Amino acid sequence: MTQRFWTLVSSLLIVGVLATVGFPAARSAAAAMAGKPLGLWTADQLAEPKNAARARAERAIHALPAPDLSAPARMVPLESLPILPEARRGIIRRVTLPAGDRRVALTFDLCERTVHVTGYDARLVDALRQANAKATFFAGGKWLRSHPERALQLMADPRFELGNHSWTHANMAVAPEAIRKQQVEWTSAQFELLREELDRRLAAHGLPASERGPLKLFRLPYGRGGAEVAQFLNGLGLAVIQWDVVGEGGRGNAQARAQVIADAVRPGSIVLLHANAVPRDTAEVVRRLLPLLAHKGYATATVSELLDAGRPETVAEGYFSFPGDNAIYDTLFTGDGTGPRAARFRKSR
Ligand SMILES: [Zn+2]
Repeated sequence: MTQRFWTLVSSLLIVGVLATVGFPAARSAAAAMAGKPLGLWTADQLAEPKNAARARAERAIHALPAPDLSAPARMVPLESLPILPEARRGIIRRVTLPAGDRRVALTFDLCERTVHVTGYDARLVDALRQANAKATFFAGGKWLRSHPERALQLMADPRFELGNHSWTHANMAVAPEAIRKQQVEWTSAQFELLREELDRRLAAHGLPASERGPLKLFRLPYGRGGAEVAQFLNGLGLAVIQWDVVGEGGRGNAQARAQVIADAVRPGSIVLLHANAVPRDTAEVVRRLLPLLAHKGYATATVSELLDAGRPETVAEGYFSFPGDNAIYDTLFTGDGTGPRAARFRKSR
């Protein structure tokens, strides 16, 4: 695709028509907020005083008055995935690349439970675009629905890949199979609706349809899940992608924490980060990380590009930094796997 094409696509998205994708009714605060698309592109634009309210809305987590349990306008994706190759089964931590290939995958989760709307970090995505960095975004389906303009902008950018992060951040280790299936399918179906909206906008301007395929990667919420969960997700055609470098937390200023990440990565590493209001200053860390990686001879790639180039390394059970360090989430997020507050709400109705 030419630069001119993508510039045009970008400008179409900025001035794009009101997104109606996935908003059958204004049933929740999430829907109300998303009914007024932000329609803004850069953090600089958001910094203008007239956009202060919009900037605040994107950069803060909003608690909803009641959990949003509503289904997407399409609940089962029309397009199914091909059978997952044997080599991509299991819980993938990182990828062994051929000698001399020094690519790493930066991954950003867009988590959103039933009780929140979690925003979007424009500064972070600006930093990636300014450095022409590739990235993979694991989006919650409900997040896709509550941030349709931002989702469309990510989808329209050829540097970025999107993956499935369940509908409402369900703990797949404890969720029953029917809930697991729903969490995956609702998200893939919501993604399809957005892709159709993107194609409608392109067609309205005489442009060819997007070449973006269905979501093929899955990230376990809280990193929770073992062999049985992986088998289930692999059976749906999804590769399960974890990380070998936790990019958030740690001590010191953004520069120091960026240095810790740069020192931790190896060729084929997958780095865990977030692209919404969940962490404090990921944008600043990433802005400083990108030149450090370049200085060490690393290039960025999407997760799928790493998978295409090398051999996945798998583990038996998902974790953050060492096995078992996320087991606590099985007691925090029980039942349907999305949180006790949501469960209480459901019972009281
Ligand atoms: Zn998450």
